[in-house]
Amino acid sequence: MLKIGCHLSSSKGYLAMGREAVRIGANTFQFFTRNPRGGKAKPLDLEDVAAYNQFAKDQGLFPILAHAPYTLNACAADEGLRTFARETMADDLARLEHIPGTMYNFHPGSHVKQGAQVGIQLIADHLNAILTPELHTTVLLETMAGKGSEVGRSFQELRAILDRVELSEKLGICLDTCHVSDGGYDVANDLDGVLEEFDRVLGLSRLKAIHLNDSMNPLGSHKDRHQKLGEGTLGMEALERIVNHPALRELPFYLETPNDLEGYAREIALMKRAYLE
Ligand code: FE
Ligand code: FE
Ligand code: ZN
Repeated sequence: MLKIGCHLSSSKGYLAMGREAVRIGANTFQFFTRNPRGGKAKPLDLEDVAAYNQFAKDQGLFPILAHAPYTLNACAADEGLRTFARETMADDLARLEHIPGTMYNFHPGSHVKQGAQVGIQLIADHLNAILTPELHTTVLLETMAGKGSEVGRSFQELRAILDRVELSEKLGICLDTCHVSDGGYDVANDLDGVLEEFDRVLGLSRLKAIHLNDSMNPLGSHKDRHQKLGEGTLGMEALERIVNHPALRELPFYLETPNDLEGYAREIALMKRAYLE
């Protein structure tokens, strides 16, 4: 069965997201752990979480994906911002212990003018300060488009982070199809080649989730502008190959396309029809 969902607003809580997912034909979903512009998260509503856990079980939902606020920058030059990133992620991970099987995705960071090497070390330091042997949640590094000074623009940069993290068994990778294409990996025309490279550098066993997005911009543009499925430079045939690829087809897919809920429902139905059972 295709595991597919989209990004949902978390403002009404977990049970509301679960119901919304089911209504649009999804069997999983992604959500921001808190307002992406930062700030304090609401106290965790344990009743809502318990109701969601039961609902997910009854409906057969697959584990969900939490997304860190994209303003969190583990390799900021400013120490105060790095402390904020560390405290925010530690708090997010503590909350997620209440929702079994959830994974946590984050953008590695932007090194600004410090250079990628410094950025990579700061991100590894950040993870080494947070990860514990007791943690149940798998933390995913997202493949980035390489816009500005983003770290994670190549598989090698992600490898360099993994190599510097002590509890790296807690880490996985979330591959964003728009980002990798913008980053210069030709997932539209050479999916096998890209996945071979991924396997060689990172190992396919690290790959835990896919952000399924079309892109507004051509291969290697380093722009990061998502497009609706089939309406961008990747195209529908390429996206169908991605969800059906033997190395990917068991992974959960999350849409982050510019859509309202009805648009997401249409795209989910489209991909379900394209999936070869
Ligand atoms: Fe993201
Ligand atoms: Fe993404
Ligand atoms: Zn993006």
